[in-house]
Amino acid sequence: RKKWKRVVGVLKELEESCETTVGRLRQVVDAMAVEMHAGLASEGGSKLKMLLTFVDNLPSGSEKGIFYALDLGGTNFRVLRVELGGQRSELDPDVEHQPIPEQLMTGRSEDLFDFIASSLHRFVENGNDSVQSSIMKELGFTFSFPVKQTSVSSGVLIKWTKAFAIKDMVGKEVAGALQQALDRKGLNMRVAVLVNDTVGTLALGHYHDADTVAAVIIGTGTNACYWERTDAIIKCQGLLTTSGGMVVNMEWGNFWSSHLPRTSYDIDLDAESPNPNDQGFEKMISGMYLGDIVRRVILRMSEELDVFGPVSSRLYVPFALRTPAMAAMHEDDSPELTEVAKILQDVLDISDVPLKVRKLVVKICDVVTRRAARLAAAGIVGILKKIGRDGSGGITGGRSRSDIKMRRTAVAVEGSLYTQYTMFREYLHEALHEILGEDIARHVVINVTEDGSGTGAALLAASHSSSG
Ligand code: ADP
Repeated sequence: RKKWKRVVGVLKELEESCETTVGRLRQVVDAMAVEMHAGLASEGGSKLKMLLTFVDNLPSGSEKGIFYALDLGGTNFRVLRVELGGQRSELDPDVEHQPIPEQLMTGRSEDLFDFIASSLHRFVENGNDSVQSSIMKELGFTFSFPVKQTSVSSGVLIKWTKAFAIKDMVGKEVAGALQQALDRKGLNMRVAVLVNDTVGTLALGHYHDADTVAAVIIGTGTNACYWERTDAIIKCQGLLTTSGGMVVNMEWGNFWSSHLPRTSYDIDLDAESPNPNDQGFEKMISGMYLGDIVRRVILRMSEELDVFGPVSSRLYVPFALRTPAMAAMHEDDSPELTEVAKILQDVLDISDVPLKVRKLVVKICDVVTRRAARLAAAGIVGILKKIGRDGSGGITGGRSRSDIKMRRTAVAVEGSLYTQYTMFREYLHEALHEILGEDIARHVVINVTEDGSGTGAALLAASHSSSG
């Protein structure tokens, strides 16, 4: 009994340090808006990089023609083609997945880009499109690595991440390297845009819903981008675009604020990660980490309080509990929590866990996911606040809150945490409503887009095409 009391104590401590009251969330909202300002004011002015994308218009639905996209970011790269009819319509892209041979990820850049160009060549031919056609085709290139953009269609690789490590590419112009490979292959194609995946998501969201002002991805990692007025981008004086705006890639995974509710588990996770002090927001929110936070809590309870029987060696393995398995435990609605028992057994090698303890595990998952989803919601409202769409009516002044005409505002969202994890999605919506209040929240819609990183890049190639 005494032992159980201490278990409840550890749980309570977890709940308290993960607390996300509306008051706390509003502080996070304010901090996000302030950091956005700082990141736009000067280079290195904030942990938010607020990268310029030079994307100065978003697809409207009137685009016409056949456009291609390449999506490079993971071990799988994809080639796709989409035909646009000029009227906002259901998009039905042809997509081909291609695993990148491992030796190409660490070899010479020319070999990688030749491989990509060959795949594209084959794809164009197989699609009965002429490879050497006199009509130049336009291509969108989604390259999900840190790039310092110099125009909408060019940028320099800052560093590789994930499994890639091609030394001669760092510091080089990415789209140029691809363009040269296309030329070598005799493909009459132009790299019209070089973007990251969130920008593609925003483009696709905007194609379907013209009120879309921001895009958020919550998957393995998390990031967001949004539409900003060029005169608010202070660090780039004299920036002129016909539209008066530009998409800014926030790199919000690196957001940090003292208002974020942080636990000892977060501190340990960060310290043991390959990138300590980096991506602090991401480490509380995204799929790569949530399962591991839960593993750390279970490990501590197991070590200190002996509620899980002899301490399983699996509990010491970093990332042994993945977020999908954690979500499955969280959403186990069987009366006996059989799924929880099964996952504890299969994944963590913990057997014969009493129902009371299985319930405790569900509660831990709930606390960790609820915090994650509510912080993501606060991040979204932070963006809305920065662009005056949170209903606080900063610019109109003088009027009372109820007078303000709130414009319909849409946010495009992608990523498995939002689309596959029902509890995450519901907690995120609930927090949006709590922070904004019902009057404002009813004007804010979240639209799920599918494959913005591919399709969105093709749409941007269309809206930035040389003929358009
Ligand atoms: P990406 O890797 O491009 O971000 P996803 O958006 O599919 O791709 O995100 C994958 C991440 O989402 C994985 O790291 C995994 O942890 C998490 N995930 C996948 N499925 C689920 C699920 N059903 N419930 C919770 N998390 C999930």
